Amino acid sequence: MFIDTHAHMWWFSFDKDRDQVLAHAEASGVTKIIVPGTDLKTSKLAVELAKKYKGKIFAAVGIHPEESIINKQTDLQDQLTRIKELIDENREYIVAVGEVGTDAYTDELKSVLPLQQDFFRRQIEIAQEYGLPVIVHTRNSLTETLEVIDQMQVEPKGQFHCFSNDEEGLREVLKRGFSVSFAGNITWSKRVRRLVELVPNDKLLLETDSPLMMPRDSRGEPLMDNLRNEPINVTILARLQAELRGQPLKALEIQTSANAIELFRV
Ligand SMILES: [Zn+2]
Repeated sequence: MFIDTHAHMWWFSFDKDRDQVLAHAEASGVTKIIVPGTDLKTSKLAVELAKKYKGKIFAAVGIHPEESIINKQTDLQDQLTRIKELIDENREYIVAVGEVGTDAYTDELKSVLPLQQDFFRRQIEIAQEYGLPVIVHTRNSLTETLEVIDQMQVEPKGQFHCFSNDEEGLREVLKRGFSVSFAGNITWSKRVRRLVELVPNDKLLLETDSPLMMPRDSRGEPLMDNLRNEPINVTILARLQAELRGQPLKALEIQTSANAIELFRV
C-alpha cells in the first residue's frame, strides 16, 4: 500500500474522471490519499471528497500562503473563522491543517510576508487546538517559515511537503521533528534529488502534489501526455526514491505508509 500524502483531488482538471483516476491509483496500490485545501472553498471540497470516498480520501484544511496576495486581510480572517467551523463539524474527516506556510517566490509575495507569517502562526494554533499535524508549504522562505515555528509555545508537528530547499535547510526541518516529502521535483532537480537519501527512514513520506509537479523522464519530458499529475505516479516517485536511498521498494513502501499512518492517523 502506498499513501499519497498530498494530492489536490478537488482540482477542476479531475472533474470529468475523478472516479477513474482514483480507481486507477487504487489498482496500483495507492489506496489512501490526503487531499489538502488551499482556501475555504477548496477545503470544503476536500472534506466533501473525504465523505464521498470515506477511508480512501482524507482531508486537510487550510489557507495557502499565496492566498495572501489574492484576498484582503479581512477576507482571510473570515475564511479562517469558517475553516475552524469546518473542522468542528467534520473533525472525523480531517487529518491535518494544510497546506499552510509562507512563500517568497515573487516580489508581491515577499511584500506580504508578515501577513503570511501571521496566518501561518494562527493556523498552527488551530492545528494544535484540534490535535492535528500541519502540512507546510515553503518556497524561497524557509527562514521565515522556521521563524514562526520556533516562536510557537508548543512545538508543532507535521510535514514539509514538496521540499526544495538545500541540505542545511533539510537538517533544520528534521531537527524540529518534521517529516519531509518530495514530489516530481526529484525527477528534474539534481539538487533536490541529492536530499532524498538524507531523510531518516522514519521521517520520509510520499506525495505527488497532483495535478501539479508532474514527474519528467530523463529527457525532461513530462511522463504523461495530458500534463496532469495523478496519485498513481506516487509509485514512480517511490521507485526513484528507493533507488536513491539504496533500499528495496517494498521496504520504502511499508516504511512511508507506516510514517503517514503514524502522523496523520489515516
Ligand atoms: Zn499542494
